[in-house]
Amino acid sequence: MARKLAAGNWKMNGNRADLDQVTALAAAHRDPGVDISLCLPATLISEAATQLANSPIIIGAQDCHSAQSGAHTGDIAAQQLSDAGARDVILGHSERRIDHDEKDALIRSKLIAACKAGLRPILCVGESLAERDSNQTLERIGTQIDGALESRDSLPCGLVIAYEPIWAIGTGRTPSLEQIGEVHDFMRDKLGARYGDEDADSVPLLYGGSVKPGNAADIFAVSNVDGALVGGASLKEADFSPIITALSMS
Ligand code: PEP
Repeated sequence: MARKLAAGNWKMNGNRADLDQVTALAAAHRDPGVDISLCLPATLISEAATQLANSPIIIGAQDCHSAQSGAHTGDIAAQQLSDAGARDVILGHSERRIDHDEKDALIRSKLIAACKAGLRPILCVGESLAERDSNQTLERIGTQIDGALESRDSLPCGLVIAYEPIWAIGTGRTPSLEQIGEVHDFMRDKLGARYGDEDADSVPLLYGGSVKPGNAADIFAVSNVDGALVGGASLKEADFSPIITALSMS
């Protein structure tokens, strides 16, 4: 069985003053019974990791470079994130695929870099609305998973996969529970075909896209949903806490 995981993605939001939300979350979930990860802007990782040293909450990052070091102005290496206190890293988020034109091959090399640095990759996959409307969802998800895992004969370091339909991110819209279940079953089967059922079952499959306190419990009841990647609702402890509680009760 995969471990349950509630992961937050603060995106390009938050200053040091907002770390009070992180400490409030830690105070509210001293023994959560599920994994909790907060993927923060790089500027906050070191301070948050220090403040959460005695908490089960994991601090993560939102991207890394594929190289270990070098002349890449403005970029951050996986090992530097690890050195700052990160243990997770989101890779292939649709906002990076769109804003920075990231392709599957690059995401694959970032995944390799993350593993080398000891970070757990949270690989994001998801279809556009046009792909959903033209019945290409599973094909798109399959291509993204194959692209990121190409020629790997064993599961990468603690891999997590987040299904995030692009049209559901930050929009308040979500797929139906049947649609979420269809994609999650597909991802589990795909991993099983690659690595065998036992390894496939160990991969936490998260749903992401407008998860809120009001819809979390229904989403967590869907088969093969092991948790959520949460954007907007992870910024405030008051919104993220009930989502974590719903996961721990699922
Ligand atoms: C995300 O960006 O990963 C996300 C799921 O955002 P939101 O929850 O705000 O839709």
